[in-house]
This record gives sequence, C-alpha cells and structure tokens, in this order.
Amino acid sequence: MATNPQTQTANAPAGTLASVSAREPTPDELAWTGDPLEAPITIEGVPPVDELLATMRSYLPDADQEIVRRAYAFAARSHDGQVRKSGEAYFGHPVDVAFLLTRLRLDSASICAGLLHDVVEDTTVSVEEISKRFSREIAEIVDGVTKLDKIKFSSREQKQAENFRKMLVAMSKDIRVLLIKLADRLHNMRTLEHMKPDAQRRIAQETLEIYAPLANRLGVGWMKSQLEDLCFRHLYTDDFEKLNTEVGRRQSERQAYVAEVVDILRNIMLEEGLQHASVYGRPKHLYGIWRKMQQSKLPYDQIYDAQGFRILVDDVRECYQALGAIHTHFKPIPGRFKDYIALPKPNRYQSLHTSVIGPGAERIEVQIRTAQMHRQAEEGVAAHWKYKERGDSLKVRDEERFAWLKQLLEVHVGVKDTDEFLDSMKIDLFSDEVYTFTPRGDLKVLPRGSTPVDFAYAVHSAIGDHIVGARVDGHMVTLRHQLRNGAIVEILTRTDAHPSSDWLEFVVTSRAKTRIRNYVHAEQRERALLVGADLLEKAFRRVKYSVVRAQAHERFPKMLAHFRIAVWDELVVAVGYGKVDAADVVENLLPESKVEETKVEAKPSKRVRKSTPAGGPAISVSGFDDVLVRMGNCCAPVPGEPIVGVVTRGRGITVHRRGCHFVLDADPMRRLDCEWNSDSKSGTTVAVRVYSENETGLLAAMSARFTEAGLSILTANCRVIDGHRAINDFEVVVQNLAQLQGILASLGRIRGVTRVERVRA
Ligand code: MN
Repeated sequence: MATNPQTQTANAPAGTLASVSAREPTPDELAWTGDPLEAPITIEGVPPVDELLATMRSYLPDADQEIVRRAYAFAARSHDGQVRKSGEAYFGHPVDVAFLLTRLRLDSASICAGLLHDVVEDTTVSVEEISKRFSREIAEIVDGVTKLDKIKFSSREQKQAENFRKMLVAMSKDIRVLLIKLADRLHNMRTLEHMKPDAQRRIAQETLEIYAPLANRLGVGWMKSQLEDLCFRHLYTDDFEKLNTEVGRRQSERQAYVAEVVDILRNIMLEEGLQHASVYGRPKHLYGIWRKMQQSKLPYDQIYDAQGFRILVDDVRECYQALGAIHTHFKPIPGRFKDYIALPKPNRYQSLHTSVIGPGAERIEVQIRTAQMHRQAEEGVAAHWKYKERGDSLKVRDEERFAWLKQLLEVHVGVKDTDEFLDSMKIDLFSDEVYTFTPRGDLKVLPRGSTPVDFAYAVHSAIGDHIVGARVDGHMVTLRHQLRNGAIVEILTRTDAHPSSDWLEFVVTSRAKTRIRNYVHAEQRERALLVGADLLEKAFRRVKYSVVRAQAHERFPKMLAHFRIAVWDELVVAVGYGKVDAADVVENLLPESKVEETKVEAKPSKRVRKSTPAGGPAISVSGFDDVLVRMGNCCAPVPGEPIVGVVTRGRGITVHRRGCHFVLDADPMRRLDCEWNSDSKSGTTVAVRVYSENETGLLAAMSARFTEAGLSILTANCRVIDGHRAINDFEVVVQNLAQLQGILASLGRIRGVTRVERVRA
C-alpha cells in the first residue's frame, strides 16, 4: 500500500476544519473529488490523530499507523460539515469510537473501520471506495457495521430480543463488527441526552435488552457495566439519581474503611509471600447494586457488598493461596464462595469470588484473579482475537472467526448457567437458518436456501402472490436467488402478477409451497372449467344439442350419477382435465344420438401410448391421480424430463416435453402442470441416432452397449453415407431420463462414434 509518511504544516482552511498537518496526496486521493485537496486535519474538540496513534502504539508497536492516519483524514473530510445533535462536529463520534476500540486493544484494521464506520451510511462514499482506498478487510468490516445499523429493533418481546441477539451474532461474520457496533452504541449512549426523550427511552431500552447482554456474552466487562449504568440513568432516572447520590455520600464516608481493608488485605498477601499481589477497592456499578436492591427488596444501606475488593496475583496457584489466607483471617459467609476459575462463566470469565465478615464485622466481597483473567474479564472476546500487523494480510477463516464462540460453547457443556442465549447461539452457529430483513428492518428468520419468493410469502401471502422480482442489498436478483444472512430484501410486486408452478422447484418454506400449489390448482381448475365447457359445448353441438338443454334433460341427474359426480361444474372440470370424455357425456345423456364423428377424432394415433400400464399411472396431473394421459408422439418425453400436459379436444391430456413446439403452439389455457410418478415402472420409446465411421464391428459394439444398459432394441436402421460414414437409428424403451442419458454417454464413448443424439419426431 503506497503511503507517504511525510508530514508538513499547512494553513488552516476556512470552515470547520482547523488543519495543522498535511502530506503529499496520493494520485488516488487527488482523483477523489476534484476539489482542491483539503489538508488532514484536526477538528476543534476532536482528539488529533497523533493521540489516537500513540494509544494504539502503546499496545501494538508494529501497527500500521499510516493507514490509520489516512482513515482519520478521509473520515474527517467525508463527515465535514455534519454536526451531531449536540452541535459538535460529527467526526468526534467516529474518533471516540476508535478510542474505545483501542481500549479493547484492537488491530489497526478495526481502528480504521471504527473511524470509517458511519462514512458509508452518512455520506456518499461507497464500500467499494473504502476497499480501494484502504483494504478489502476494512471495507468488509465497515459494510458489516453499516448493515447492523440498518436494522431496527422494534418489539419488546423477549423472543424478539433473543432472535435479535442471535441475528447480530450470525450476521457478524467478523467478530470485530460486533465490537465496533458495541463501541458505537456505547458512545451513542454517552451522548444520549441530546436526543428527544422518546428516542432516549427507545435507544436505552434496546441497549439494555440487546447490547448490554451482548457485551456480557462477549465478556467485555467494562462495556457491559457502562452500558447498563447509562441505560439505568435514562430509563429509571429518579432511582438512578437517588442511588448515585447515596453511593457517592457513602463512598466518601467509607473511604477510611475501604483504605483500612485494602491495607489489611495487602498485609495478609505480604505475610503469604505474595509481594506482587495488587489490592484495591472498587465501587460496583450502580445498575448491579440497584438490581440487587430490587431482587432482595432491601434499601441501599442494607446491601452489604456494594463495595468490592479485588486482588490481582501472578498465577492460578496464587489465587487459591490468596483465597486460603483471606478465609483464615476472616470468616467466610456460607454459600458466597464461587470458583469461576475451575468453572468459568459462559463468557469465559474467570475469578474466585468470596464474601467474608471483614473488619468491623462488615460483609465484604473479594474477587481474586490473575492479570490475564483480569484482561479476559475486561476485553472478553477481543483478548482472544489474534491479529497479524503488517506483512501477510489477515487471513481469518470461518472456523477461526467463531473459534472463540465455539470454545465458549464447548467449555460449558454440562454447566448449569449455560443460558438460553448460548443455546440459541449454538443453533445459530451450526444450524440451517438465515436471518433476513425487510427494508424497514423487520427480521425474517427463514430456512437456509430460502429465496425471495419464500421471503415474500413470509411477509404476507398477498406479497408472495404478486411478486415479480426482488432486490437484495440494493441489487436485482432472480427469484431463485438463495438469501444469505443479513440480506435486506425488497420485494417488487405487480397487481396482475401470479404465482407460477415453476417456483415449486426452488422454494423451501412450506408456507410458500402451500400457497403456490393452492393457487396453481385453483387456476388450473379454472382453466379446466373453461376447456371442459368448450369441449362439451362442441360435443353437444355435433349432435344438434346444447349444454343448456342438456342440463334440463330428464336423464341429467342419472347421467351425473353415472360419472359419480355431484354437480355439473365438477363434470365440466372433469372433462376439462380429460378425466371424462365429452363424447361419453353426450352418449350417456343422449344414447339415441349419433356420436361416431367424435369417436373418430378421439381415436389415438398408433404411437400414442396410454400411460397406465402395470405399476400405476406414470404421470399425475397437478395432484390428480386418475386422469387420462397420453404421450405426445412429437417429442416422446422420458420419465424424469420436465413435462407439460395439453388438453386435446376429445383426447384428454397429451403429455409433451417442456419446450416442445406443440406446447409452445398450444393455447395457454389448455396447458396443465404434470409430474412424473417416481414409482412408475412404465417406459418410453425413444429414438437414438448414432453417427459413426463406417467400420466393421461398430454395430456390434453399439448393440453391446444397449445390452449392458439392460435396454432392448425395438428397431435398428443402419445406413452408410458417402462411403465412409454411417448413420445408425435405434428405437429403445427407456425407464427414465437418467437411463437415457447413460446410454447416450455410453454410445458416445465408443471409438469410431462421432456423435450421438436423441431424435424427435
Ligand atoms: Mn456510529
């Protein structure tokens, strides 16, 4: 990546930018807007980039600083002129987010993504541009954060909150996306007072239900506590103020006591030979105390362990040693000892917790942990995210991305406090669901493989019935496009559009399948009704009678009974479907009339076969089993091939290959959907043509292939053209498409055979 480390002082441009440093622009940057290049940049009230770099250097000396510098400058320019509700420069927000990320010791790509996280959402800059200017990795993280931003959590239902958290995890292919989202939310919560009161409540509620638990699950202790306290302040303002005052007062009252306890604990550690142990008192976070008060229904002054003490030691052995020493000096309170070292919490938190009767007979809580456990408790998942700065690009494979979360699941098999979130996350990581969204941000959980059609029916059946297209994340997709996690799906509808039976090939939800089938059946019944009425009308007209007179005929009820049909419409449908021959209806009602004319027309040609040999009907017509079906002799469809039925006057339904010219020419009203019955044993005669050299033995080789495939040859016709080439025509009966394709391939492999094809009439 071409970077220019050269920096120099430049004059401050007019406007909000107060520039102090600049470097030579890259050609790419010059091409950016065509404007005179704005110099990077510090903005009033926003920490300068050097401060951010210094913080990052403190834990990542090798980090790519130049890219962070560029991201800072680029984000500053992109947000130039935008202000937050507080009136401060908008750019202060991404910079503060970046600082929060340094507290998690994240890599330079994350810091850049933090700086750029609102650029795509709030400015005209595209993800592609970020990819070009910085890196694909950074662009993908920014894209992930942008997508999470688009999703609004609306429902107060527990189930929804649960789903929402699952979805956030599922969507964040990169855990850094979640961490940036948490930092973003934390900063927004810190500046929440500039929002309108109802927005404050909504955002605080969402944070308490979604993001604070998420921070906890990811093991980022300080974020969880800060988020909870900020929510507490905005949601239960009176309680918060009261408790805050009380805690403050009591803390100053108790400073002497806290100092005394710290002193005593320190001495105990020294006596134990644990010179490195650091001991300190720590106020618990307010929301935690408040919840304890709610649960125990006690006032604040009776919550004893509101003040906690913490001891950091060098290793696990020392943790237990320190615990033993404390229990020797002070009486432990039964039931309060917890060994999270042997049994870590689901978020991998480790510590020893104990409460003892301390100096002055007061209950105190002590936490003992190693420095590494402390880092784990503060940074959580971030502590486990290994980065490679410089050199090789970061290669994080899928399984590595979720290694921490998977570990998190495995460690806790059999542990009681593995909660529902983890269970659901387990489902998530290994299951078959995709999380998709309406443009308004409503979550739709669908089976993996779902398409826009499934999505449309999940939203509303009327939307599914009229879908004509879909946009996923702003791009047009086909209806059979498989949706992925996080897809924002916009369905395009047209009032005159209708479901198609073709959709049944790719939809996966039963809701969509049922709706499409119902529609197709209803539509086909409608068609059968029209076709049947037409056929009957013509059949009666041939004997100088009419349908209207027929319905008034005295034998009419008897005739219906003969066909075991209750009402006229059903008979018309049966005729339309070809189940009943119109001529038979006429003959039954008017036995005295002459109907030979229709009979002649109804006589099938000799190559048309009935499809009901032993083994049941080979074909079912849109769910009806007992329909009279014949094979079209023009295309001779083979079981397994896509087929369409065409209602033929007086001959029931003829089945053709989809795409056969006969089907294309037929009145669309007469087309019916047909399917092969997989258990059918009937075969189809097909013609196969083999082009070959004129060599002896080739014919024998061909017939051997037929025998091997278990096919018997009905006819063979071989002839030589222009002396050295031969055309060999065979007719064989095949059971299905696979068998046909098998023999065609097998024939093609014979040496001397130049081409093999299926011949259609
Ligand atoms: Mn933001």
